[in-house]
Parts: sequence; structure tokens; C-alpha cells
Amino acid sequence: FVAGLIGSGGYIFKAYNIDNEYRSAKGRDLRQVKWEKTFDKNRKDPLPKIRSVAVDVMFNPKERTASVSGSYEIENTNAEPLEQVFVSMVTRHKENIKKLELAGAVRVTKGENMQEIEDFNYRLFRFEPPLAPGARTRMEFETVFHAPEIADNSSIERNGTFVDSSAVLPQFGIRDLRLRNKDKRRKNDLPELEKRADRTDMDARQRHFISSSSDYVNFKAKVCTDVGQIPIAPGKMLAETSENGKTCRSYQTIRPILNFFSFLSANFEVKRDVWKNPNGRDVPLAIYFHKAHDYNVDLMLDAMKGSLDTFTTTFGPYPYNQVRIMEFPYRGFAQSFAGTIPFSERIGFVMQSGDPTDNKKVDLATYVTMHEIGHQWFAHQIVPADTKGFNVLSEGLTENAAMTAYEAKLGWQKARRVLEQRSIQAYLTGRTVDREDEPPLALAEGQQYLDYNKASWVFWGLKQYMGGDKMQNAIRGFLQEYGYKGPPYPTSIQLIDALRAAAPDELQGLITDYWERIVFWDMKIDGDVDVTPNASGGFTVKFTAKVDKKIASEETGKEISVTEIDGEELNEWVEVGFYDKDPKETWGDEWVKLEKVHITQLETELSFDLDERPNFVLLDPRRLLIERKVDDNVKKLPKGKLASAE
Ligand SMILES: [Zn+2]
Repeated sequence: FVAGLIGSGGYIFKAYNIDNEYRSAKGRDLRQVKWEKTFDKNRKDPLPKIRSVAVDVMFNPKERTASVSGSYEIENTNAEPLEQVFVSMVTRHKENIKKLELAGAVRVTKGENMQEIEDFNYRLFRFEPPLAPGARTRMEFETVFHAPEIADNSSIERNGTFVDSSAVLPQFGIRDLRLRNKDKRRKNDLPELEKRADRTDMDARQRHFISSSSDYVNFKAKVCTDVGQIPIAPGKMLAETSENGKTCRSYQTIRPILNFFSFLSANFEVKRDVWKNPNGRDVPLAIYFHKAHDYNVDLMLDAMKGSLDTFTTTFGPYPYNQVRIMEFPYRGFAQSFAGTIPFSERIGFVMQSGDPTDNKKVDLATYVTMHEIGHQWFAHQIVPADTKGFNVLSEGLTENAAMTAYEAKLGWQKARRVLEQRSIQAYLTGRTVDREDEPPLALAEGQQYLDYNKASWVFWGLKQYMGGDKMQNAIRGFLQEYGYKGPPYPTSIQLIDALRAAAPDELQGLITDYWERIVFWDMKIDGDVDVTPNASGGFTVKFTAKVDKKIASEETGKEISVTEIDGEELNEWVEVGFYDKDPKETWGDEWVKLEKVHITQLETELSFDLDERPNFVLLDPRRLLIERKVDDNVKKLPKGKLASAE
């Protein structure tokens, strides 16, 4: 399972709907049904927005306990006065909530659903009087986290703790616990799951995908831990102090960040470096790692520098003070917080490093490092609205960024190898195991095979068709227009508009096929390939290309050729590559000739003049079009007879 997870992208930006309490699958389902019946009506309640966050985190790794206290400055950004608000607790042990006070509001203890509010670890506060639009107030909190007990673990490790803010800081609103599975919903008499908001829903565009109760926040933290460990949070480190036998560090961000933080403590080794910025402030780099796991540290530092080189020239300046990566044990993912990236030992520190000279290998530690740093642009600067298609703007654009940095560092063939596994195979397999309907990419609702895999494939295709610089400049323009701007947040509509504006007329149909419908091309070299010497001393190569394009129905998956649909036509640009050596060896690279042909019918006689006799001909050699079966795209050409060659 873990290997599969790694193969198909074992890392996440944000985990959704994880319920940490141990329950049987059946018990969990029933609980979710109860949640929906009680709280679904409150799912879209107006919330205040958090403007600044200050926290004190005390880790006690020896005892495996912690305490977290702090405050939020909040504002009612709604047009109406705010009457009440739910707060989600981060522990179900009421005695461990030492403080939870919302200035100007009282805790509601009598009325509807009080038992359910208790059971789901919520508190309900009523503002007295209602909080006026634009008015600000403050919440203060303190929670302690106990040592592990039977069936009630602690996320504080003796060495190697990583917790994120959703696990240790109280959250405004109620977490969406609706059952997702279609069959289970039917069995439990729940209505069909309401889809995410449409991309044109201006109300939804006031919220981003991480949090409905914040835009960007000012953040400062003091984190303390046992002597011998290093405490880490996002932000620039301001001071290190010793207090009451503890090691403490204070952090503050140099600009507002997403309301999404990581807190770590471990007995780290540190390796530091600096990324020299040719156009501005240098960026300090650091990797915090477990002493025995130093195998890939230099390689990852190199990948950090390569990422910053590529992303700053391609997309714009790096927004934070530093980049630091911290190893954590056991789990299999990495997660990108502002300037601060916790990274599982399994997908970076203790995995095979790959091999930059072997075009059959994926250098995953390098790739994942680049992906996580890519999020500093896409997720942290471009923050998607909470609508259909949201995660394409985070994971999809990040995959494009990672692929670009990876290719810049290791070359086209290594990038094509990554595409094969992470995009082509992962998309084609992922869609067949999804039991729900597959939406077009632009409307994806969190399916990994779309957000990561298909998105990466179509960016790859489009950049070869329209030119890498042109496509990346369009993305850069999109980032300049929407990055760090706050609401209304962008959707895939604005991204696709930016791509369309930069693409020539002849590629507008391709953009529609990639993003707005589910399309499969089917190409084949039919029959023999004819090679004859020609009058100019070279060779003429002739063959029949069969090309079809099928559109899949979203509801039934049924595929129909565009030649059988009214108002549609074949109007495709297909690359044809000619090779000396077997193109399998080079992933279709190192062609002797590469031409783009315009295809308008199912069967086309093609003819090409070449200076030398080629040994192979291949349709769509760079895998720019979404196609499943490609072994009939290639033909080995017959050797010429000596007599006719003279
Ligand atoms: Zn990601």
C-alpha cells in the first residue's frame, strides 16, 4: 500500500476529512450519518475571519505530552451581524480544554442539540450583542494533550514530533463529516452528495480551499521543547532561549501566510546552505534530519536550489524568508507550509536516490522536494477558491512547476520518465478504479488522478505544442493577477482563460479537449510503411495514419468518435517522429526529424522527405495527446535493398 501511495504521489498539501479517533468502520459511518442529520444545516454558517494568530507551544517529548495556548484576532467580514459561531475542539477530553474564551460572546449550554454538540467536540458561542460587520474581537485558548493511553494515542513522539494546526489549534466552524461514498449514502437514506460550489459562485470565491475562516494571517509562535531537541514552526526564527530547563525558539513570518501551520520537535542534525539570488535577497536553506538518515541531504539541498532557480525565473519571486525541510518519522508524505516543509523519512531521507544518468529511473527525492517547493507559489501565492476544480490550481500547477524544475536539472528524458509513471499510467489507471463519475479536469473535486496526474499530463502536452516559455508566462501572468490578492479567489476558469489568451487559434480546441471534456485520442500506423529513394538524393517515407478522437460521457463513460457527433470534427495536430535508434531507448527523444501534421479524417496518407533513411517512425512520440494504447503508433522500417539504394 505504501509503495503504491508513493508511486502515485504519496504527498499531500492538505489532508481532508481525517477523523483521528479510533472507531470501527461501521461505527464511523453511523457517526457520520448522525453528524449530517444534525449539523448539515450549519455547514455553511457564516464565520468570522482570523486576522492574526499568536501561539505558545510547549512540547514535553519525554512524557509525550504538550500544551498549546494562544489567541486569534478575528473580524466579522460578513455583510450581516454575526449572531453565533461553532468552534471545533482538538481534543475530546473536556478536562484538557483549559481555556476557551471568545470576547463579547457567551458559551451556549442550553438549547437544541446540546448532546450532539458535546459528542462532536464542538462549542457554540453566541455574541452578545451580535458582532457588527467589520468589528473585531479576540479568542483565547489553552489545550493540553495527554500521554498515550490504550486506544487513545498521543501525536507527541519521544523524538520526531510533527503536528499541524488543525490538530492542535481550535478551529472556527464545524468540520464537514458527510459520508462521501455513494452506496453508503443510499443505504443510509442520505440525499445525493451535494457537489462543490460552481466556479462562478461569487460567495464561494470569498473562501479559499484551506479555510473558510481566514484569508492570510499574521503569525507568530514560541515553541519550547526538551533540551537536546530543536523546536520548529513556520516563520523567520527571531530568538533562541533557555527557559525553565527547556529550549525555546520564537518565530514570526515576514508577511501574512495561510492559516495553516506545522509544529515540530526532534533531535535534529542541521545542514545549512544559501540560495544565491541573482535578482534580490539571498534565501537561507536548511535541512533538519535524523543523524543516521543523511543519505539524500545533499541531493535535496541541490533540488532546493534547482527549484528556486527555476521557479523564481519562471513564476516570480520567492515570498518568504527561508526554505527549511524537516524530516519526520513513519508517515508517507510531505506537506508544504509557508517556508517550512515537513517531509517524511520514507519519501525523501531513506529512499533510493535514483540516478541522474539513468533515464529509466525516477529520482523521487529530488522530484518530491521540487513539488513541495512549488507549493510556495501554487497554494501559498495562488490560493484556489473553494469551488469545483480547486485542487488543480494547487496540485496541478505544482506538478507543472516540479516537472519544469526537474527537466531543467535532469533533462527531457528524465522528465518524460516521470510523466510516464506519475501522469500517464497514474491517470489511466486512477480513472478506472474511481467508482464515481469522472468529471472534466477543470471541474475535478479532489480526485488525485485528475488534480495531479491528468493536470500534469495536459500541461506537458500544451507546453510542447505552444512552447514552454509561452505557457509558463501565461501562468506567471495568472499568478501576478491573483497571487496574494485575497478574495475573490481564482478558479480554473481564470487559469484556463490565461492559457487561452496566450495560445494561438489552432490550439483553442486542444485546450477545450484537455480541460473541459474527457477525451481520448487513438492513433495507429496502418499497414506497411513505404520507403523509397527520391530525386533529391534522400528518401520519401509514406504510410497511412489512422487517427480518431473520442469523447467520453461524464455519466456513463461511453465514448463516441467526434466523426459521429453533429457539430464536431477531427481537427487535430499530431506529431510524427523519425528515428535512427529505437525510440523506446530515449522515450521518443533524439529524433532525426519531428513534424506536426494536421489531421481532419480518420485515415490520412502521409508522405515525408528525409535526407537519410530512418529506422523507425512514431506517431505522437512525446505523448502530448491522451491515448491509452500506443504500441501500434510505431513501425520499424524495412532495411533498403542494396540495389535500389544505389
Ligand atoms: Zn502537493
